[in-house]
Amino acid sequence: MTDRKVRVRFAPSPTGPLHMGGVRTALFNYLFAKKHGGDFLLRIEDTDQNRYVPGAEEYIMESLEWCGIKVDEGIREGGEFGPYRQSERKEIYKQYSNELIEKGFAYFAFDTADDLDAYRKEAEEKKETFTYNVACRGGLKNSLVLSEAEVKAKIEAGEPFVVRFKFPENEIIEMNDLIRGEVKVNTNTLDDKVLYKSDGMPTYHLANIVDDHLMNISHVIRGEEWLPSLPLHVSLYKAFGWETTMPEFAHLPLLLKPTGNGKLSKRDGDKLGFPVFPLFWKAPNGDTASGYREEGYFADAFVNLLALLGWNPGTEQEIFTMDELIQLFSLERVTKSGSKFDPKKAEWFNHQYMTLKSAEELTELFIPELEEKGIALNKEMVIRIVGMIKERANFVKDFWEQSAYFFEAPTAYDEKFIKKQWKENTPQLMADVKDLLLGVEDFNALNAKQAVSDYIEKNELGFGAIMNALRLCVVGAGKGADLFEIIEIIGQQEVVKRIEKAVANIKK
Ligand code: GLU
Repeated sequence: MTDRKVRVRFAPSPTGPLHMGGVRTALFNYLFAKKHGGDFLLRIEDTDQNRYVPGAEEYIMESLEWCGIKVDEGIREGGEFGPYRQSERKEIYKQYSNELIEKGFAYFAFDTADDLDAYRKEAEEKKETFTYNVACRGGLKNSLVLSEAEVKAKIEAGEPFVVRFKFPENEIIEMNDLIRGEVKVNTNTLDDKVLYKSDGMPTYHLANIVDDHLMNISHVIRGEEWLPSLPLHVSLYKAFGWETTMPEFAHLPLLLKPTGNGKLSKRDGDKLGFPVFPLFWKAPNGDTASGYREEGYFADAFVNLLALLGWNPGTEQEIFTMDELIQLFSLERVTKSGSKFDPKKAEWFNHQYMTLKSAEELTELFIPELEEKGIALNKEMVIRIVGMIKERANFVKDFWEQSAYFFEAPTAYDEKFIKKQWKENTPQLMADVKDLLLGVEDFNALNAKQAVSDYIEKNELGFGAIMNALRLCVVGAGKGADLFEIIEIIGQQEVVKRIEKAVANIKK
């Protein structure tokens, strides 16, 4: 790498919610920037007004914020290279489009949509594909064919036009991609792409190159779907005479569906049983799509799982903080081939973060649900409970199912467990256990367990038989945390009540 200051940009178009692949692109840009002490820019590429979706910009910013991806320069943060929203830079692009025409690197084209359709049909009939390029541009409606006066007259008459890039004839364009290495393309295979339109808007290609240049971008890190545009982009840098400061390029591998069959697309939405967006999205027309945040993923788990989609540290390590990712990240370790998304592995990541988080932190996330259920809260107690059950859960939304018996007496008893564990004499034994628990003075797990164990021993009873029946009374089933821990937490009065209730209700 040169000693140029690293400046990278994430350049989404606000056409809807940000796909998780887009978040991964933002993340890799961010990690690369921070690793090299550089800047991370957020540029909104909204030149295609037809595809603009209200709310998308806010969604993009909120997604980055949730992930802990901090923007150094952007539409909200400002910065000396602004404005960072392309629709506010229209005048700039016009000037550069004119410059290319003047230098002979671009031309006006007046072919209408109907003309283009006709060209395409004609080519199809000959089993060819129509490409607007050196082979045919000499016979179409453009300023390479028309006289200067004709062109002027058309423009003055307000006839719609586009400005197309004029690819040189039969030249090999050599490009370097930091992930894919050398790429070569012959210009004769390329389309003279549209750069600018008479509505005063540039296309993505022109705006993107002009902005990357003016914003002093050192590295362009983006999805593989942009690789086919690279020959045009490199040619534009040459045409403008900006070759020496041209950014380096890195095209990231696609995210694939869990089956490995095709790319994970926005349209997959919730169809595959998992979200493809970071946050819940509600479209202006009312359509909704689920998001990782609302599904209960921790932001750090989500970032961690994204980091490993197409990158690996070269070791077995799988759990990383953001700071570790910044330390370890390198484009050399980004893979060329597509990366399959595994939703089960995503859950595994969340589980790993669950076990790493403190019971205190998780309790704060659990409390709203308890409040909604009208549970009288003793925070210390909830922290203890959460500490006991968190290892059994992938998400905070699993907590209630894992811990309901701490908060409420069972309302039903597991039939199968009753059949196995509830004998004819069990009600009598449980009545004894209830009495002896009532007699425990300093009521805690240890003393309660001691009392029950002494009773079992003195009466030569089976340990399992008593414990299982007692668990049935307290929990309603054969599951749950350590029985005496549960008993300590719910307290002496509650245990007694639960035993009485069970004895009265369990019928064989
Ligand atoms: N606006 C493009 C997009 O939506 C940006 C591509 C690039 O990074 O050059 O993905």
